[in-house]
Parts: sequence; structure tokens; C-alpha cells
Amino acid sequence: MTLHATRLEFTGLFPAGAAPEQLGRGYTWTEGPTYVPSRGVVVFSDVRQNRTWAYSDGGELREELNPSEYQNGHTLDAQGRLIACSHGQRALLRQEPDGSWTTLARTFEGARFNSPNDVALHPDGSLWFTDPSYGLDKPEEGGRGEPMELPGRWVFRLAPDGTLTAPIRDRDKPNGLVFASADTLLLADTGKDSATYRYDVTPDGRATLVGEHFRVNPGKTDGLRVDEAGRIWSSAGDGVHVLTPDGQELGRILFPEVVSNLCFGGPDGTALYVTATTGFWRIMTLTRAG
Ligand code: MG
Repeated sequence: MTLHATRLEFTGLFPAGAAPEQLGRGYTWTEGPTYVPSRGVVVFSDVRQNRTWAYSDGGELREELNPSEYQNGHTLDAQGRLIACSHGQRALLRQEPDGSWTTLARTFEGARFNSPNDVALHPDGSLWFTDPSYGLDKPEEGGRGEPMELPGRWVFRLAPDGTLTAPIRDRDKPNGLVFASADTLLLADTGKDSATYRYDVTPDGRATLVGEHFRVNPGKTDGLRVDEAGRIWSSAGDGVHVLTPDGQELGRILFPEVVSNLCFGGPDGTALYVTATTGFWRIMTLTRAG
């Protein structure tokens, strides 16, 4: 059984017979899946092989960037363009329609970022991204022995007008993040006291910690998404955990490897794509991204 229901309603989130299907293998550390509707592909990273890949709606798997400068998390901006976190460039990047890359941000008050990890779009068009130091600390994730220049591992907000602020400075290793609503951010911390924390967000881009929202076991939440009903889909050590909007577990999709991240996508948005260590997977659902 790959679907493990904690509550009965979990089973109703999947078509009959749904099970994880492995679409790709042989990677080292997959991460950062994001569906790009304009291209009909899911882009994902193999951070430690320094590449990105694209899997099309037609079932074709293609190498995308090699080297990828250790791209990690991705999302779409308000115009549907691909946004990437780059360990190698220590920067937040945007891919233009012609395929070229634009650097959106690489420093804050004169100091270089550590290694941007994951990014989420707020409904106001701002991009919020986390900046732990994995890409400095780990040679296999692009680390070249460079020191941290910032005094912490923060969460940054890039406003549509280009203004860069650091609204969250109280985390150890901020990692995956998702907006449950315009005024609620869920932020995973994979450092000490690993859990996902809830922050109130104001229209002017400030964030205040409310408290711990949930924690998975085994493993940690690295990446997470919310669906159209506000349910939380979180990576974990044993697969994907699905939780109610207030953080109560509904059930688990069990995987044979540690899951790092996930996204909804496909032509009708109901496919759940999962990056799990050496594999890339899909399971069909009856919901879609929120
Ligand atoms: Mg991550």
C-alpha cells in the first residue's frame, strides 16, 4: 500500500488505483519541481549533479541545463516566467521567454546571499525566497568554501518594483515556503527545531511569527505546497504527508526514498510531481494547486 490514510477523506483525494509512478531515475538529489504551463513541462533540479531537467506532458524527459549552476527551488512569477534559486550564482534568477536568464537579486545591503534555496510567489506579485547556507557549506551543492557575508539565514522579499527586504530573520535554516493565503506564509525550517512555522504577512510585506504549524515524522519538511482546498502537501522522510489547512495529518503517500519537494501540474493541474532523492515521480490526484 503506498497510500496510508490517517483520516478517511484522504482516500477521496486520489482516483481509484492511484500510485506513485517513477518517471526518472539515476539522480543524486532532486529538488525544485515547478510546472510551466506555457511549455507543458515540469522543470526540476538535480542539485548535486548540477543539472536541471524537464519532463513534458507528452512523456519526454530532457536534460535542460548542464551545468545548472546548482539551481535548487523554482516557481513561476506573476507573468508565468520561471524563477530559479541558484546556489552557484548565489542569486535569484528569472528565465525569459527566449530562454536566457536574468539576475533579479544577488545582494542585500551590499552583502551577497548565502545560497537561495526555495521561492514562492505572493498574490501581490512579490517573490519570497529563503537563503540558508547549504550551498556554501556543502561542496556537493556548489559550495566553494566561500564565507557567509550576511549575518544570518533569512527570508527575502523582492517586490514587483524591485525593492528587496528581509522580513524574516528569526529562523535557523529557512527552506521551503508557500503562501496559504495573502496574509499567511508557511515556512519550513530544516535547521534546529525542524518544523513548519506560520507567519502573518501584512500588505506592506512584513511578517510576524504566529507559531509552529506542524512537523512531520520521520524526516523534515523541505518543500511544500497547498491545494485548492488549502490542504498542505509536505515532503517528509517517508514520502508525502497531506495535512488539513490547520496542520492535522490526513494521510501519507509512501515512497521508497526521502522526498524533498513536490508540485501540482500537468494539463489539468491534477498531477502531483514529486522529487525524491534519486528519483522523479508522479501520482494522479483529484485536486490541484491552490
Ligand atoms: Mg529546499
